[in-house]
Amino acid sequence: MSNIILLGPPGAGKGTQARQLVESRGMVQLSTGDMLREAQASGSEMGKKVAEVIARGELVTDDIVIGLIREKIAEGAEGGFIFDGFPRTLGQADALGDLLAEMGLSLDGVIEMAVDDGALVARITGRSTCGGCGEVYHDQTKPWPADGKCSNCGSSDVKRRADDNEESLKTRLMEYYKKTSPLLGYYYAKGDLHSVDGLQAMEAVAADIAAALEA
Ligand code: ADP
Ligand code: ADP
Ligand code: ZN
Repeated sequence: MSNIILLGPPGAGKGTQARQLVESRGMVQLSTGDMLREAQASGSEMGKKVAEVIARGELVTDDIVIGLIREKIAEGAEGGFIFDGFPRTLGQADALGDLLAEMGLSLDGVIEMAVDDGALVARITGRSTCGGCGEVYHDQTKPWPADGKCSNCGSSDVKRRADDNEESLKTRLMEYYKKTSPLLGYYYAKGDLHSVDGLQAMEAVAADIAAALEA
């Protein structure tokens, strides 16, 4: 069993690769972005509180996402956890280390998904997800089947995120460079960092991640 982090800017392909790992290795995907969107959809107090922050493309506070992750780690995962979009700050990284240690778990690797900023506008503005199963699609690189039905679950519920626009992406990228990119040095210093070229085709990225996990 192993616990890993997928680290990269918005649109790097973290969610896409996490879903592959869930299928191929029975790991459990923990996406704080998905959890926050669920909270928003449920209309909970926390969901209302974070809605505007997410729409602007800023990060929500550490205490909120750490609370969400704490609950999920406590549930355990036989195949190991994939942290997708968490941690995003040094404070979150320290908290994750503590939470894992409390549970007697370890962090086994951090995969950096390296991409050029230039590729991200197209990645983000072309993204859609299946409302039925969460499968990630892209208008150009992974279009919905011609009959409009998800190849994974058959649903025709195409979802696009309100924050997947160029304006919000600018803020999200600035947040990434300011607050999240320091984690690359943090994990490199611990000897945990593996970098893969996220600009390759999805299958090639998946193969490189698999190789990094064997190393
Ligand atoms: P992407 O897949 O494009 O990187 P996510 O779905 O991971 O986006 O996150 C969407 C939004 O949710 C972020 O822009 C941010 O507002 C919020 N968010 C998600 N994860 C975190 C986190 N770990 N810390 C703070 N904010 C987060
Ligand atoms: P993240 O979770 O890092 O924000 P996603 O996995 O949601 O990124 O991917 C963003 C968009 O780019 C999606 O529309 C997805 O289908 C597409 N995508 C992901 N990986 C690749 C790839 N290797 N090549 C081309 N498009 C990709
Ligand atoms: Zn589906």
